[in-house]
Amino acid sequence: MAKTDSEIKDSLVQTGRPDRVEGRQVNMPVELGSTMVFDTLAAFEAARAARYRPGTLYYGRYGNAACFKLEDALADLEAASIVTLTSSGVAAITLTLMELMAPGTHLLVGDNVYGNTRAFCDSVLTKQNVAIEYFDPMIGGDVAALFRSNTAAVMFEAPGSGTFEICDTPAITQVCKAHGVTSVFDGTWATPIFCRPLELGIDVLVYSASKYVSGHSDCMLGVIACSDADLAMRIRKCVMAVGDKTGGQEVMLALRGLRTLELRMNAIEAAGRHVAGWLAQQPQVKRLLHPAFESCPGHAFWKRDYRGAAGLFGVVFHPCADDDLRAFVDALHHFGIGVSWGGYESLVLPVKPVRVARHWDEPGALVRFSIGLEDTQTLIDDLAAALPLLKTGSEA
Ligand SMILES: *Cc1c(COP(=O)(O)O)cnc(C)c1O
Repeated sequence: MAKTDSEIKDSLVQTGRPDRVEGRQVNMPVELGSTMVFDTLAAFEAARAARYRPGTLYYGRYGNAACFKLEDALADLEAASIVTLTSSGVAAITLTLMELMAPGTHLLVGDNVYGNTRAFCDSVLTKQNVAIEYFDPMIGGDVAALFRSNTAAVMFEAPGSGTFEICDTPAITQVCKAHGVTSVFDGTWATPIFCRPLELGIDVLVYSASKYVSGHSDCMLGVIACSDADLAMRIRKCVMAVGDKTGGQEVMLALRGLRTLELRMNAIEAAGRHVAGWLAQQPQVKRLLHPAFESCPGHAFWKRDYRGAAGLFGVVFHPCADDDLRAFVDALHHFGIGVSWGGYESLVLPVKPVRVARHWDEPGALVRFSIGLEDTQTLIDDLAAALPLLKTGSEA
């Protein structure tokens, strides 16, 4: 059963807390530690035998009490059976694919995935004799026509990195299930507040908690969530065999971030829609790529599958000189220039999508905006002052 909004709110307050003893702290402490000691050899041996199982205290690399609290809290939000934390969002993606892709298998990858997912597939998995094939995720269930006898997984993401298409996720998961192919989905953008991909039939949800979940640009953390416990345990063992590890400080920061996640996402959604709507009306803007607006490919799927929109979107400006684009970006005082997003500060970055299945050939300059928690009028005034530097006009 899908959680209601009220259950999600309550979960954000109640989960991931210290056990109920009298005089308990409100929050889990920052847990630091390597060796854990036992009173009897038998107890130690029992812990060693169960070390991969979530909640087992055995050795720091396998997790500690705070780490398990965060895993449980995220599992509750995502309606997952098991969540495994990783040291970054990229580690969640790469370790999942490492476990799923044996030499000689075939991986279908959405053509609009995060750049590092692509880099890992092209530079690491190909060396392991995994065949990588990029597909246009907007073909939805027709991806089944690309399945081969050795296709092990489909890795995809919505909205598309930089281009913001929303694909038909349930159509893709349905054909994956019918053919015994594992679906892996990067759900960083929506967070569990706006979409719970396991409820759409995804087998493995991966995401970066460095973004909205921690929410303050001070934490790097990845999440792997599965409904199927056997699949979850296979991937968890791979994470632990590789020795990937989440730090105690990051666990505390993510638990703290969860408390305000719903408040921040709702504020960021409203601000993002407001700024995006204003931008769409400016003469320099050719097309708005924001999933909550009709001009975005797959808007109807967003409406059907998502409860809200994050604050990250794209704008295609009418063709202009590269120097003018640079002058525009540099003139913005309230938008930091940098990668990643999901913190409290607004960001801006020109992007050049790399596509092989369907080339990105829309003329004009594509710029990605991440709306933070500033006053929207401040952001609009900032944009309004800088936009005249783009000497395009609607006649361009
Ligand atoms: C940022 C991001 C990642 C990588 O996460 P890190 O925590 O920075 O390693 C993966 N996927 C998407 C969609 C992202 O935006």
